[in-house]
Amino acid sequence: MKKVILLFLTILVCYRPDITLAGEQKSHPLNERLSLYVKMETMTQIPWYVYAAVDQYEHQVRNARKDRPDSKGSIGIYFTPEKWAGPLNPNPADTNPITVSLFGGVGLDGNNDGKADINNDEDLLFTFANHLQKYGSHLDDIKIGLWDYYQRDQAVRIITSNIKLYKTFGTLKLDKHAFPVPLRSNYSYRSTWGDRRGWGGLRMHEGTDIFADYGVPVRATSYGTIETKGWNRYGGWRIGLRDLNGTYHYYAHLNGFEKNIKLGDVVKPGDVIGYVGSSGYGPKGTSGKFPPHLHYGMYKDNGVTEWSYDPYYSLRLWERQERIELRKNR
Ligand SMILES: [Zn+2]
Repeated sequence: MKKVILLFLTILVCYRPDITLAGEQKSHPLNERLSLYVKMETMTQIPWYVYAAVDQYEHQVRNARKDRPDSKGSIGIYFTPEKWAGPLNPNPADTNPITVSLFGGVGLDGNNDGKADINNDEDLLFTFANHLQKYGSHLDDIKIGLWDYYQRDQAVRIITSNIKLYKTFGTLKLDKHAFPVPLRSNYSYRSTWGDRRGWGGLRMHEGTDIFADYGVPVRATSYGTIETKGWNRYGGWRIGLRDLNGTYHYYAHLNGFEKNIKLGDVVKPGDVIGYVGSSGYGPKGTSGKFPPHLHYGMYKDNGVTEWSYDPYYSLRLWERQERIELRKNR
C-alpha cells in the first residue's frame, strides 16, 4: 500500500500535463532546459516560466553579442568569472563554495556536488534563483528583482513579455511564424531597405512596405505581446509586438486596430491585430498621403541597445513556410 501511494505521489510530482513538448524526443535541448526550470521551481517556489523567461533573454543576449562566450550547457545565464568567484579572489576559476563566498563571489553549488561551477547548469540557475528569491515570488516582486539585477528597463520589459508567453502557452516551443497579411489577399512587396524618403527630413527606410488594399487584415507574425499601440506622426496608427527573441515587430500606417487588442495582450502567429491603411505623415488622423500599404519593421536587442535590420528575408521565409503548411493541410 505504501509503495502504491509513493508511486502515485511520484507520478503527481513528475506529471505536468501543462508543460510538455508534445511529440518531441526526450533529448531535445528544449526538454533539457524545461526539466531544469521545473526542478528549480520545486526548490524555490518561483514558477518555471520565470526561469524560462530569464534564461531565454540571456540566450538571446549571448547570441547577439560577440564579447560573451557560448554557453557550455543548456542554461544561457551568464556571470563574469570575477562576479562568480569574487572580485578579490586570487583564483578567478575558484569552485570552492566556501572561498567563493568568502571573497564576495555570487557562485553557488546548486547540484550538491560540493562545487560552485560557473559551467554547470544547475549551479548557474540556482545562483540566479538565489538572487530572485530575496524579493518574493509575486510578479511585482520578481520585476523589482529583475530591475535590480539588470538595471535596464528594456531587460525587464522583454523578460516580463517572455513570462507571459511561457505562462499562457505552457511550452517552450513557440517558434512558429506567419506572414503579416493573409496569403490569399492581393499583396506585393520587394526589398526596400535603405531607400530614402523625403517627408520629415531625409531618413533611411527601416523596413519593408507590403502593398495591399485598405482593410486587408494585418496579423501577428510571431508569438508575442503587444508593446505599443496608438498614433505616431510618421507611422500613423501603429502597433508593435515583442517576441521571445527580444525582437520588436513594428506595423505602421494602419487603417485601424482589431477590436479588443490592447497593450500587454498575448498574441500568436496569424492573430489579426489591425488592418492595412494609409495613415500617418501628419497630425493624428492624417491619411491618404500615399497608397495603402503595411510598413513592417524589425528591431533586434542585444542586452545593451536595439537596432533595426532588414525584415525582407524573414518575410520571404515566413511566406514560404506558411505556403508549405497550407498545402499540407489542404
Ligand atoms: Zn515603409
